[in-house]
Amino acid sequence: RKRIAVMTSGGDAPGMNGAVRAVVRMTLQENCEAYAVMEGYQGLVEGGDWIKQMEWADVRGWLSEGGTLIGTARCQDFRERPGRLRAAKNMIEKGINGLVICGGDGSLTGADTFRKEWPSLLSQLASSKEITAAEQEEYKFLNIVGLVGSIDNDFADTDATIGCYSSLGRICEAVDYIDATAFSHQRAFVIEVMGRHCGWLALMAGVSTGADYVFIPENPPPEDWEAHMCDIIKNHRALGKRKTIVIVAEGAHDRDLNKISPTKVKDLLSGPLKLDTRITTLGHVQRGGQACAYDRQMSTLQGVEAVRAVLDAKPGDASHFISVVENKIVRKPLLEAVATTQAVAEAIENKDFDKAVSLRGDEFKE
Ligand code: ATP
Repeated sequence: RKRIAVMTSGGDAPGMNGAVRAVVRMTLQENCEAYAVMEGYQGLVEGGDWIKQMEWADVRGWLSEGGTLIGTARCQDFRERPGRLRAAKNMIEKGINGLVICGGDGSLTGADTFRKEWPSLLSQLASSKEITAAEQEEYKFLNIVGLVGSIDNDFADTDATIGCYSSLGRICEAVDYIDATAFSHQRAFVIEVMGRHCGWLALMAGVSTGADYVFIPENPPPEDWEAHMCDIIKNHRALGKRKTIVIVAEGAHDRDLNKISPTKVKDLLSGPLKLDTRITTLGHVQRGGQACAYDRQMSTLQGVEAVRAVLDAKPGDASHFISVVENKIVRKPLLEAVATTQAVAEAIENKDFDKAVSLRGDEFKE
C-alpha cells in the first residue's frame, strides 16, 4: 500500500488547509495511507512524531480554517545535503513513497532537488547501513508533486496560486474601509501591500478598488514619476474626487531600482499637493483569515489531482506541479515554471522591465 505524505512550506496562504484536506482524503479514498509532515521541511528533517498518520476525521472542518494547521517553517537544514539525507532516512523509516508539497517557488525548487538527489541519498544511506539493500530497492523511486501555495500569485504557468484571491479580497475589503474615512475627510491614503517581486496583489487591488496610482516592481513608473503621479492625482481632484488612494507593493522601486517607499509617496502628496495624507501598511492581515470560495474550491480540486499525479508518476518522469490554466486543472513540469518564475526576478534586477512584464502577462502592461 502506498503511503503519501502532504506538507505545507514557505509563507502560509489561505487555502493550504483545503489542499491538505483534499490530499489526505483522496489518498484514503485511493486505498493508500495518508501522512502529514508538520512544520514544512523541518518536520521531514526531524522525522519521528513530526510525521503523523492522518485519518479522514483528522481534517474535518479544515476547509474554512485560515493559515496552515500542520504548520510551516523556513528550514535551513533542508537547503544542505546532510539535512536532505536525514529527511530521506525519516521518510523511509515511515514507509513514505509519495509526497505532495504545497508551497512557493523556494519550496518547490527544494522538492525538485530532493527528488533528483533521491537515488544518491539512498546509496549513501545504504552504504552507511542506515537502510538495508532491500529498502534501497523498495524505495528507489520517489514521487513528488507540487501545489503552489502563495498569496502573491508569483508563480509562472498557473493562473492563480492557492491563497491569492483570498488575500486580494482581504486587501479590497481593507481599502473599502479606508475609502470611507478618506472620503469623509477628503484625505489621501498610501497603502502598502505585500509583494516583493510580484505586483499582482497591488495591481489587482488597484483595479478592484479604483485606486488613483499603483506602484509595482515589474513595471515601474516613468523616470519623472513624482510629477507624473502628482499630475494624475491633481487631475482626479480637479474632477471632483474627494479622496486619493495610492497602492504601493512592498517591492516597488523606480526604473533605477531605488525603493519607492510609502513615506516617499506621502511626502509628495502632503508636500507639493498639500493633501492631508496617511500611510496604512496592511501587513499580515493580508495572509490571515478564511479562504475565499475560489481558494477552497481550487485547493480541493488541485489536492485531488496532486494525489492522482503521485499515483500516476513513472520512474524517469520530470517533477510536476498542479496548475490552473483557464479554469482547468492541469499538470505542468515543475522545473520550467520555477525557471520562468526566477527569470522574472532576474529581469527586474537587470532593469529589463519589458521582459518582466511579458513573462508575467498583459495585465502588467499598463
Ligand atoms: P514564499 O513564496 O511564501 O516565500 P517559498 O516556498 O518560496 O514561499 P522559501 O523560504 O523560499 O519560501 O522556501 C521554503 C523552504 O523551502 C526553505 O526554508 C527551505 O527549507 C526549502 N528550500 C527553498 N529553496 C530551496 C533549495 N534551493 N533547495 C533546498 N531547499 C530549499
